[in-house]
Amino acid sequence: MTRRIWNFSAGPAVLPESVLEEARDNLLSLGNTGIGICEHSHRGKPFMAVAAEAEALCREIGNIPEDYAVLFLQGGASLQFSMIPMNFLPSDRTADYLVTGMWAEKALKEAKSCGATHIACSGKDANYNYIPEACSYSDKPVYVHYTSNNTIFGTQFRTEPTSIPESAFLVCDASSDIFSRPVDIRKHGLIYAGAQKNLGPSGVTLVIVRKDLVAAGNKSLATMLQYRTHADNESMYNTPPTFGIYLMMLVFRWIKANGGLTAMESRNTAKAKVLYDYLATSSLFKSTTKSGSESKMNVTFVTGNEERDNAFVKAAEAAGFSGLKGHRSVGGMRASIYNAFPPEGVQALVQFMKDFEAAG
Ligand code: PMP
Repeated sequence: MTRRIWNFSAGPAVLPESVLEEARDNLLSLGNTGIGICEHSHRGKPFMAVAAEAEALCREIGNIPEDYAVLFLQGGASLQFSMIPMNFLPSDRTADYLVTGMWAEKALKEAKSCGATHIACSGKDANYNYIPEACSYSDKPVYVHYTSNNTIFGTQFRTEPTSIPESAFLVCDASSDIFSRPVDIRKHGLIYAGAQKNLGPSGVTLVIVRKDLVAAGNKSLATMLQYRTHADNESMYNTPPTFGIYLMMLVFRWIKANGGLTAMESRNTAKAKVLYDYLATSSLFKSTTKSGSESKMNVTFVTGNEERDNAFVKAAEAAGFSGLKGHRSVGGMRASIYNAFPPEGVQALVQFMKDFEAAG
């Protein structure tokens, strides 16, 4: 087999090796069924068992209460940008958005095409390098939307926003930090995440949503755009992304076997600390995020000189560190170190950075 290299991609991203090995074996035959995982009918017993285990493990790991539905949808997190306001933003209400990056901007844009919106805070003044502390909410918003981790700008909420108006339920785009730490589901009305960073492959989106909200959602939408369609049919109204759900199930097993979300958080905190500690002392590399807002998932940094950044990315690539080029809106570098990224890879990167710095 080709040697696997350190993959710092922001998503699709590295998956646990044991998960990939198991998936590889089951591509030809799921267990002893004689039919590969991608070839099974979604209505057949073997796949139904996979889907049931995926949901059960998701509930167990995430400590998801019974009055929340767990949905496996398609269309990526981007379709959720639209489905949320379509289902939940009536014409006489306002939806509030905490705009902390480009993904939040995109979510807001879709909501604007559905109804009235309000920007409760924005970090645009400093190119989104921080999470604003204060929010100013509209009068009685129907929901408050935030992006828990900003994949591009390398910032992350320490906790969910507090003191939101009583009229509102909280909606979280957790695409790039879902299940990287324990989350208080009860504080949210809806949490969504594309799978391709912490949960599995692209093509499946996890949605955790309060059942009473689903029931009260807009009934005049196209069938596929209503949450109730998917909740009423256990995500099998149409053919679900079977392989994605299967891989998610394996990732959930892996999370459980490795100590659950508390252990994920400790591991992620330790990994990120190695990088941020080095950035704090380096005279060449600097973090681009404001202290207190740093992401444990996406660590963004620069040398302050574009040519030097490019030289570093090129040298790193040649040395087997892939995916380090920063997003064009920030420049520099970005090391994405989601749940499955091994601690040794972070150590190796820091050593490589030190050597690069020492070489001048
Ligand atoms: N939200 C966040 C925070 C993201 O990082 C991304 C993708 N990188 C998206 C939304 C969009 O996700 P998708 O490509 O699944 O639509």
